[in-house]
Amino acid sequence: MANGAILTAADARPVAHETIDRVTRDLVGTARKIYAEPEVGFRERKTSARIAQGLRELGLVVEDGIAHTGLKAVYEFDRPGPRVAVICELDSLRVPSHPGADPDTGAAHACGHHTQAGMMLGVAHALTRPELRSVLSGSVAFVATPAEEFIDVSARLEMRKAGLLGFLSGKQEMLRLGTFDDIDMAMMMHTASGDGSPRITVGGSSNGHMVHHVRFIGRSAHAGGAPERGINALQAAMLALNAVNTQRETLQEQHVARIHGIISRGGTAVNAVPDDVVYEGRVRAMDPAALTELNDRVVRCYKAGALGVGANVEITTIPGYLSMQNNPDMQDVFASNAAIVVGRENVRATEDVGSRGGSTDMGDLSTVMPAIHPYTSAATGTGHGPDYVIADYDLAVVAPAKIMAGTVIDLLSDDATGAKQVIANHTPLMTRSQYLAFQAERFHTELYSGK
Ligand SMILES: [Zn+2]
Ligand SMILES: [Zn+2]
Repeated sequence: MANGAILTAADARPVAHETIDRVTRDLVGTARKIYAEPEVGFRERKTSARIAQGLRELGLVVEDGIAHTGLKAVYEFDRPGPRVAVICELDSLRVPSHPGADPDTGAAHACGHHTQAGMMLGVAHALTRPELRSVLSGSVAFVATPAEEFIDVSARLEMRKAGLLGFLSGKQEMLRLGTFDDIDMAMMMHTASGDGSPRITVGGSSNGHMVHHVRFIGRSAHAGGAPERGINALQAAMLALNAVNTQRETLQEQHVARIHGIISRGGTAVNAVPDDVVYEGRVRAMDPAALTELNDRVVRCYKAGALGVGANVEITTIPGYLSMQNNPDMQDVFASNAAIVVGRENVRATEDVGSRGGSTDMGDLSTVMPAIHPYTSAATGTGHGPDYVIADYDLAVVAPAKIMAGTVIDLLSDDATGAKQVIANHTPLMTRSQYLAFQAERFHTELYSGK
């Protein structure tokens, strides 16, 4: 080390951590600025521009406008080797009652995605240090993905009809566009609600899901003067939801199944029989076969609603997310880096691979390549709720940046032996072309007449 040369991961890690410590204010500042300007999926233009600027200031060449607002920047080390992606998600939710909500759109960072940009930029600061070029092999890709929250289904379907989208989530769409074709493995971190003590959690899984856009089509008539001449699409939707509720007693604990949705169009005028009602629904389960079976039953319930009042129903089934598969080798490297940063006693492994109930498109990525999606307990409140806020920005941004930078260093040092081992030990559940064909096949629209 006398001449400043760095030869091993053990030498490189402190350089990375010190670099992140020096830019802590910038990283947290970026996260806070993104929090203050929440943008929903495929519309995260300001968020994306802010991240692109941060990467360009480090000398990286940024490809932006991928899947509308996504971006990617690759940084190569001196010797060839595998490519590791570090990912951040751009989008907010819509929770109008959240203290950080945009008053016009209701957009709010009630899932903590704004911290992920800070994490990723921290990793970029650390890994672009010139001293690390010669000790690491391969490359790192910084990827910002749009639209992880599967919301605004009607609007995204319209974008698809206009040819502006193929799939309705960011990582799904970037997989379709080939953004991940030159990437060997991927990681990102997400915030979780904690009790104030530092905790990094690895392992566990998420639900797969299917998304429904269900349009009940009736006939309008004067609701007071001639209701008998109408066909009430809202009543059809109510009947359908009651039928859906009858399924709940048949759900089995081990599937962690969920059925839920919103009526996004309930009618037009109170004095006319509603003739066009839209329900955006979701069915979730961890096991793919259980999901398919439950999906079919719920679709049958939509038809039952239409049949009950003699309406028509147009059911668009949209491919949702696949369950998260955390790669055990990457997870081991990550956990040992987490122990260095927050202490071994604060790193927890979820022993069983049960689903947390929610879903993420990181699950889709993990179906085609080794991937990890650990959590940092930096938030308080209920996820997606009005009280979900980041309580500890150091734990939300700085610690994750150090852990992920260290993980990449371990994977790509020593001629990338660690990363090569991850690849050698990994069999993806699907190839990328199998994944795209599978998801495309799940996308379909059916018109059922209950007349
Ligand atoms: Zn979320
Ligand atoms: Zn989230």
